[in-house]
Amino acid sequence: MKYSLIRPSFVTNFSCIGGECEDSCCYGWNIHIDKQSYKKTLAHSELKVLAKTALKKVKKSEQVWAQAVLNEEGACGFLDENKLCQIHAKAGEALLSNTCKTYPRMAHMRGGDRYDSLSLSCPEAARNILLRPDAFRVERTTLTHHRTFKATPVWAQKAYDYSIQLLLKPEQPLEHGLTAIGILMKTTERVANGELESSAIDNMFQQLIILSDNGQLKQHFEGFNQDTDAHQMHAFTSIQLWLNTNKVRRGRSRFELINQAICAMADEEKSISMSKINRAWKEVAVPALQDQQELFSRYLLYYFYQMNFPLVDKLTPSQAFRVMLLDFFMLRCYLAVIAAKNEGLSEHDIIMCFQVYHTNRQHKANYSQYAINLLDEAKFDDLASILTLLS
Ligand code: SF4
Repeated sequence: MKYSLIRPSFVTNFSCIGGECEDSCCYGWNIHIDKQSYKKTLAHSELKVLAKTALKKVKKSEQVWAQAVLNEEGACGFLDENKLCQIHAKAGEALLSNTCKTYPRMAHMRGGDRYDSLSLSCPEAARNILLRPDAFRVERTTLTHHRTFKATPVWAQKAYDYSIQLLLKPEQPLEHGLTAIGILMKTTERVANGELESSAIDNMFQQLIILSDNGQLKQHFEGFNQDTDAHQMHAFTSIQLWLNTNKVRRGRSRFELINQAICAMADEEKSISMSKINRAWKEVAVPALQDQQELFSRYLLYYFYQMNFPLVDKLTPSQAFRVMLLDFFMLRCYLAVIAAKNEGLSEHDIIMCFQVYHTNRQHKANYSQYAINLLDEAKFDDLASILTLLS
């Protein structure tokens, strides 16, 4: 059967920067080695001595046959003094384990089509996704396979396509596009529940375009904009404290920079207020991001693509929207506190905020369910309240 392979240019243009990387994936986490690579490495004349100490057999599955032993700095034992991988240097890419060969590349299937992507937990991938103007130039080629996949529901396909159109509508502030997507997800949810026909999504999309053009979307957004500092602070500190419980050492020192920037905002009683973070966002971060106008649009476009929005985990469309806004809000807070501490934002700072947040987020297996419970508890349980996270 013939299907499509979809590959954005942020994937095509990606190339690992190895020893130059500011948060190498060869440090601080359980690097899994598959059975084939394990055996070949042990049999390689130039690697076998080192492999005896640098690899530990765990035999959990064919894919997780062994794991790399980390030294006291948390580095994979195959790194040389120049931080270069000796497996790659002495035996070439073919001998790398599947994990090392593919990371940060990833892909998901939708209705038989394959969508290639990268993980934001790699700093170079984050640069490619967030900073390159041509990041989303898409190449579509033919893919042949005989596997069967569940068809994507019509409502999900429509919600995905229309969300991207609403996000990228020219001359429309990002916040208004997100407001429209939130409204669209309410209709999508009713269609997914069988209360409405899928044509209701088309009708709602058309109405939202009209509301955007005549300025009523702006009024909606401003009407939702209430004072919820205390609730915002609760959401921010809860997620941040929870991410702090991650055991993975990779990226820990960079995560600590975010923690330090948050603490630097505390007053004499060691308390931090949301109004201070929001002020830092408006007064320092926003001016510092003047040259990065497309930053959040690119991020959200990546998010929709990568997460297959709104079919995210087991969430309903409205829940997926709320979790997305929480991610957006957390990243804005990270950028705000770093901007306040560094009195501006360099490209390095921007990439660090996105990469550190996503590295930690992805190490929490049940992140989306935790996020929904937290949002319910913090009273961000409907469209009006969740949109206040954008204020
Ligand atoms: S995190 Fe990315 S750029 Fe850094 S070493 Fe790993 S693959 Fe290469």
